[in-house]
Amino acid sequence: MNICIYRGTNEIGGNCIELSTDKTRILLDVGTPLESMESDAPLDTYRVPVDGLYSDQTPGLDAIFITHGHPDHYGLLPLVNSKIPVYMTPAVHKVLTQIQPLLPGDFDISHLNIIQIEPGQRVRIGDFWVRAHLVDHSPASVGYEVSDGTTRVAYTGDIRFHSHMSAQSWAFADAAKNPDYLIVEGTRLSRTDDTTNERFPTETCVHQAICEQLSASNKLTYISMSSQNLDRLCSVIRACELTGRTLVIDPYTAALLDVFHECFPSIPNIKFLDFVKIYYGISDEIADKMKQRGIFYTHKSHKITAQKILDNPTKYVIKYNWRLAQWLNRNGVSDYDFIYSMWHGYMERKNTWDPHQDKIVEIHTSGHASSEALCKFIDQIAPKQIIPVHTECKSAFATRFNVPTLVLNDKEVKRI
Ligand SMILES: [Zn+2]
Repeated sequence: MNICIYRGTNEIGGNCIELSTDKTRILLDVGTPLESMESDAPLDTYRVPVDGLYSDQTPGLDAIFITHGHPDHYGLLPLVNSKIPVYMTPAVHKVLTQIQPLLPGDFDISHLNIIQIEPGQRVRIGDFWVRAHLVDHSPASVGYEVSDGTTRVAYTGDIRFHSHMSAQSWAFADAAKNPDYLIVEGTRLSRTDDTTNERFPTETCVHQAICEQLSASNKLTYISMSSQNLDRLCSVIRACELTGRTLVIDPYTAALLDVFHECFPSIPNIKFLDFVKIYYGISDEIADKMKQRGIFYTHKSHKITAQKILDNPTKYVIKYNWRLAQWLNRNGVSDYDFIYSMWHGYMERKNTWDPHQDKIVEIHTSGHASSEALCKFIDQIAPKQIIPVHTECKSAFATRFNVPTLVLNDKEVKRI
């Protein structure tokens, strides 16, 4: 078997890994670099030189396997040749086809032949057997185990061990035990500047801290969080329920919850959450696209107006929306609390939160494993060698994990 990591040996994101034999070629993830998310550059800018991957080439790959629904793992899909089957879990399929096209830009993968792979399922692609294993990271994230009968490789995708889904990552370690190679992410080996993770090592800690913050506060509270961070959304919903607050979200977040509820019945159904309200006073590209698809007003009975919030602001927790915040401010709501519940790095890169700096309380835990958790995981899965990916410090792996480490450079082909 040969391995070639086209991108990701020396950066966080943009994963694209080829495994091949003489007869069969597969890719694990086809991501775009993190910087692409903040850039207007055309998608072509981020192509990696994979022969036979793109629509303008003769197809040369037998399959692509996507680990999860984050663009640094699937972002190149719109450029992929329609003849190449693309495998992903059913929930990731829904997010990529129903939610991602709502976002600004023209993300379109309707030309692709997408095949759903269930967690635990094993498929045969030429010389390879490929099995998907659920891991803890984002909804329905999987790692993959790939074997050609001689060499067996496990790939974590993105992984962590500290949300309600942590058992999935440990089960992956047991199910894929003793691989010849473990391709393992190392996001947090270099992000030592982030102290939030030390204060909130698990999602349960985050949930408790949000509960405490809301209980102690008698002010309107804004919370900045990613709609696609399902664990966080559920933590916040539950915290609002427990503290008697009304949560105000936007129609896009409501649509995401609907999709997740369809995939995972244990996820709350907005229909039955009378303390969750939706603010419709939004006109942007997402709203327009949702209106075109007839899903903007799906939960119209949950509608709340800015005026209604103004009547009793201390009752509400609002998923941060700067227009609504400005309107409330102009109309007299100048005192409020602000919970920032995302990666600290975004705050340093963007000025969105500058006006609220003196109010911000950071409550967040990472989507990625700590170095200590990775150590335990590597002990448990017990690979013969590890291959670093999705990291800015691959050279640290060998000393940190005490396992023989194969350090690759981007685009280097290695026989394994
Ligand atoms: Zn991810």
